[in-house]
Amino acid sequence: MSRILFFAAIAGLVYLLLRAYRKNSVEPHVDAPSKTEDMVVCAQCGVHVPKSEGVQGQGRNFCCAAHRDAYRG
Ligand SMILES: [Zn+2]
Repeated sequence: MSRILFFAAIAGLVYLLLRAYRKNSVEPHVDAPSKTEDMVVCAQCGVHVPKSEGVQGQGRNFCCAAHRDAYRG
């Protein structure tokens, strides 16, 4: 009987550890967007690109120079 209680205690401990581990592993994902640089949407194709990789033109953001040149609006 004590053996069953022992395994139940182990199972409970593992469950709590897994829950704590999951909580810790989820938090970085929640923080990630604020740590990464601003994303901009290409006015031509709608693709999201980091602002530093994007191209600005006509007061809008684009994913590449080709889409900036192709954009009319
Ligand atoms: Zn584009």
